[in-house]
Amino acid sequence: RIGTAALAVQVVGSNWPKPHYTLLVTGLCRFQILQLLKEKPYPVAEVQQLDRLEQFTNGHKSEEELGELSEQFYKYAVQLVEMLDMSVPAVAKLRRLLDNLPREALPDILTSIIRTTNQEKLQILDAVRLEERFKMTIPLLVRQIEGLKLLQKTRKSKQDDDKRVVAIRPSRRISHGSITEDEEEEEDHDDVVMLEKKIRTSSMSEQALKVCLKEIKRLKKMPQSMPEYALTRNYLELMVELPWNKSTKDRLEIRAARIVLDNDHYAMEKLKKRVLEYLAVRQLKNNLKGPILCFVGPPGVGKTSVGRSIAKTLGREFHRIALGGVCDQSDIRGHRRTYVGSMPGRIINGLKTVGVNNPVFLLDEVDKLAKSLQGDPAAALLEVLDPEQNHSFTDHYLNVAFDLSQVLFIATANTTATIPPALLDRMEVIQVPGYTQEEKIEIAHRHLIPKQLELHGLTPQQIQIPQVTTLGIITRYTREAGVRALDRKLGAICRAVAVKVAEGQHKEAKPDRAEVGEEDCKEHVTEDAKPESISDTADLALPPEMPILIDFHALKDILGPPMYDMEVSERLNQPGVAIGLAWTPLGGEIMFVEASRMDGEGQLTLTGQLGEVMKESAHLAISWLRSNAKRYQLTNASGSFDLLDNTDIHLHFPAGAVTKDGPSAGVTIVTCLASLFSGRLVCSDVAMTGEITLRGLVLPVGGIKDKVLAAHRAGLKRIIIPQRNEKDLEEIAAHVRQDLTFVLAGCLDEVLNAAFDGGFAVKARLEHLNSKL
Ligand code: ADP
Repeated sequence: RIGTAALAVQVVGSNWPKPHYTLLVTGLCRFQILQLLKEKPYPVAEVQQLDRLEQFTNGHKSEEELGELSEQFYKYAVQLVEMLDMSVPAVAKLRRLLDNLPREALPDILTSIIRTTNQEKLQILDAVRLEERFKMTIPLLVRQIEGLKLLQKTRKSKQDDDKRVVAIRPSRRISHGSITEDEEEEEDHDDVVMLEKKIRTSSMSEQALKVCLKEIKRLKKMPQSMPEYALTRNYLELMVELPWNKSTKDRLEIRAARIVLDNDHYAMEKLKKRVLEYLAVRQLKNNLKGPILCFVGPPGVGKTSVGRSIAKTLGREFHRIALGGVCDQSDIRGHRRTYVGSMPGRIINGLKTVGVNNPVFLLDEVDKLAKSLQGDPAAALLEVLDPEQNHSFTDHYLNVAFDLSQVLFIATANTTATIPPALLDRMEVIQVPGYTQEEKIEIAHRHLIPKQLELHGLTPQQIQIPQVTTLGIITRYTREAGVRALDRKLGAICRAVAVKVAEGQHKEAKPDRAEVGEEDCKEHVTEDAKPESISDTADLALPPEMPILIDFHALKDILGPPMYDMEVSERLNQPGVAIGLAWTPLGGEIMFVEASRMDGEGQLTLTGQLGEVMKESAHLAISWLRSNAKRYQLTNASGSFDLLDNTDIHLHFPAGAVTKDGPSAGVTIVTCLASLFSGRLVCSDVAMTGEITLRGLVLPVGGIKDKVLAAHRAGLKRIIIPQRNEKDLEEIAAHVRQDLTFVLAGCLDEVLNAAFDGGFAVKARLEHLNSKL
């Protein structure tokens, strides 16, 4: 409870890279704490001064005894100082101080200079009585003198060394308050020693060990306040933490892998089959050189979660590296350590996180890498993914090679179009198409609903979602290839039910409500709103019976009115509208094409953010129709076969805010314009896709599977596709094919025939004959 009062003379230091301050203080006197007044934010206490008071200097102590003691002390002190090298200014000053200072101040000063432990220093501090203080300090002095003598004996070159023993302690220590600083320094020093020990015992490569030892040598010589100190230390800590030789043991068994994959994911047969093949080869050949799997498909179809399952089957750690928007190659390969704030790249960071050198790394969204002035991250990835090179991958920050050959890389993307070709070349692309409605229902009931129930703390006894409701959510509240929005909607339902259940539990305390309700618990959520449930408080309706059944009314209550209408036919109730099929990275979509004509000078206006290719398709379509106008008896408003005579045409492609491009809208534009000029309606359940040529041929296009699924989702029945795309139909699930009629068209005549009820060309010819008669 005794401390030193001191005056802060100087404060130096900085907060960066870590707070580090040096305090210069002048000691004033001892004090004793009488009462602690408060501890936070800093201690405040009532204290009593203990020394430097007249009574102590003049003292009640018998002058003689003290005089004797102090004389003895003075002698030892002089003996000690004279053993040192007097040419050192600090020593000379000390010698002068011994003569000039009052004797009673000497014990304190000398204790702070000679080599003593903190414990001893504290004891001296506690010795309030001068006599006691002198008595305690003398043995310390003697010890120091003996030590010095011994040293002088063993070392011949004594003068240099003597200096070090004592004079190395700077004179600013002529104060009492350097205890904590001392400890901290010692602690830091200990840390560095520990770090060195860790480096030596870690299993890092020889090259890395060499670099580390060199760095630690530098670190030891560096003052802590230097920014580089923290940098070097972080670097060394990372090096120690990296899993140079640490790996998990693969436990691969194909049968078990099949079960895990099947349990975690419904459908996706092709993908699962390929993954199993991949794993089987791995089991037989026990080395990881092979193509990198790349799952390509719309969002929410389970690409990431398959990656996670693969890690699970192999018993490996899983780490996801999101590459979307990465435009700096140092994100992959790290910054050189010369930069302030430099850090390792994501690969090395990932390895540090998982702590083993053979994890499964999922490179998410490789198609969204971007280029910038800071270099091309795709090029850096090339090195990472190349099995020939990646055993010595060199991160700029580490600056030594790290072996990545045990890491299993899996990539995911929404489209292959934007993956740089060289990168694509390293990967084996596996397409993951969107799901059909039936598959989504199964996925919802097997995986999503149980998961959501668990997330919301509900049990199947509390909520029941029948399959028709799920179908309702899928068709009327979502329009997507994957199941993410569906998952969210199910989450919303669970939240709403959780409120009801929690309210019910609250009410259970009141037994009169427990019996109320019908046996078959339909429409509970809506029933709650009925006036029959006159409850004591207006907003807390009667507790629902379990399980709460989610039917269409409940859906509407929870999710609001349906967002999508199944009926597309309403939009096809006037001539000049046709449905096309488009492919986007988010899956297939149906797309309405609208056309109108007006008096004008033969202008064609196109709106809806079209790309060049699409504009060309529109021009092609008009040219083809103009050249075949007579054959189909198509006329403009004034009855002329020259369709653009005094007529302007406007083609629009909703949604106007989304950029569209590609040749596959060709047939849709032709059909739409044919409908406009003939005044006939296109069949409301037909969708089409196909590129056209000037001579009226229909050329094959891509993304048929996604497009067909989109048409199926939208409830369309007949799909016109190019003849040469027939082979793509095989990939489509049988039950989807059953619901649809496919028309394989080789030329535009066939397209038009299929798009209009009763055919187009034939009807036109009949009308033509009729008119002649
Ligand atoms: P992606 O990576 O393709 O965008 P995710 O892997 O993140 O999609 O999947 C989104 C969610 O959908 C996950 O919760 C996943 O479990 C679920 N999911 C997707 N497909 C399936 C499936 N076939 N079976 C079970 N769950 C699935």
